Amino acid sequence: MNSVPDVSADAPTAADPTAPRSLGSFTTLQLGGPPQRLVVAADVDGLVERVREAALLQSPTLILAGGSNVVIDDAGFPGTVVLVRSRGVRVVAEGAGTVTVRVEAGEPWDELVAATVEAGWPGLECLSGIPGSTGATPIQNVGAYGQEVAETITSVRVYDRVADEVRTMPAEECRFGYRGSVFKHNDRWVVLSVDFRLARSPLSTPIRYAELARTLGVEVGDRVPLAAARAAVLALRAGKGMVLNPADPDTRSVGSFFTNPVLDPAAYALFRERARDAGEPPCWPGPDGVVKVSAAWLIDRAGFPKGYSGPGGVAISTKHTLALTNRGGGSTRALLALAAEIRDGVRERFGVTLHPEPVLVNCAL
Ligand SMILES: Cc1cc2nc3c(=O)[nH]c(=O)nc-3n(C[C@H](O)[C@H](O)[C@H](O)COP(=O)(O)OP(=O)(O)OC[C@H]3O[C@@H](n4cnc5c(N)ncnc54)[C@H](O)[C@@H]3O)c2cc1C
Repeated sequence: MNSVPDVSADAPTAADPTAPRSLGSFTTLQLGGPPQRLVVAADVDGLVERVREAALLQSPTLILAGGSNVVIDDAGFPGTVVLVRSRGVRVVAEGAGTVTVRVEAGEPWDELVAATVEAGWPGLECLSGIPGSTGATPIQNVGAYGQEVAETITSVRVYDRVADEVRTMPAEECRFGYRGSVFKHNDRWVVLSVDFRLARSPLSTPIRYAELARTLGVEVGDRVPLAAARAAVLALRAGKGMVLNPADPDTRSVGSFFTNPVLDPAAYALFRERARDAGEPPCWPGPDGVVKVSAAWLIDRAGFPKGYSGPGGVAISTKHTLALTNRGGGSTRALLALAAEIRDGVRERFGVTLHPEPVLVNCAL
């Protein structure tokens, strides 16, 4: 159940000005007020055209695909929402032991991952079960369980709204980093398709994530059959409410609400001083002395455990401290109030500021 939400029920097509009452049916949080205008882009040409039309109308534009990484204001979006529904996967190059696939932006991500596992093309297997579209994966350099898309993306085909042209950006131009890229918080580029270079092997890439290695009963660095890696990731994710399941309110989220803070050596030393009676925080050292600290640990130790609820129908997931969920009847306002309470509590306790991972649309934290 990780596909991009179907549009047939609620959405008018093309330039029908009769917009739906709410964007909630297009977001995994099931939150967000009405759009002023909503159009569907069914293929790559349509995607460029819909965005150009909106520019001619001088209408602010929101590109929306799976809606799994956006928090949209209760007042909705005062402009045109372009729903990305383009589909298609094809092999565009084959090398010695590699294959390059070009994937249209609206292709549901997990269907692509399943297909690459089935085909024997390692590189995406640890990203199993992540909701949303393929075109959104470069935006925040989607990652999980020791893999991120920056490792396999070779180029991204974009529509540049400023230059009004379609062009190909090589991976180097995308400036991929931890949960970020040149595309995040910048609506200049519309992703039309993404090229991934994958290996050919029945085995996964080396397992890097200790929890995944333990689950598979192997050492970090070992390879396992591709299908086994996918199955283990899906099982781990499901246990944390990180695979969409309409029957499980713990999955009514955007996944992780906050990124793991990356502290420079001075900030890290200060943090350790303040955290000295709180136990050993999970940390990942990075280049130049920076240290990434577990946001889930910070939140929990600052007094916000799993299941912690705020007023207004929102709560921390009962399965994962990092997921803020709509329990039903929630609102964006209530969700952001809970997020602010958590952010402020963590800052007060540890002197560390958490930053939201999803894109906040027409609202702020
Ligand atoms: C249960 C759950 C688990 C998750 N787990 C993970 C995880 O493990 N790792 C991870 O990295 N993320 C995770 N996420 C977040 C999310 O699934 C990913 O970020 C995903 O790539 C978002 O895709 P989407 O199509 O839903 O994007 P949307 O939510 O529709 O859009 C997100 C942003 O990308 C922009 N955008 C979307 N498509 C395009 C396009 N074609 N061109 C230009 N801009 C575009 C939008 O304007 C918006 O700013 C999780 C979310 C949920 C709900």
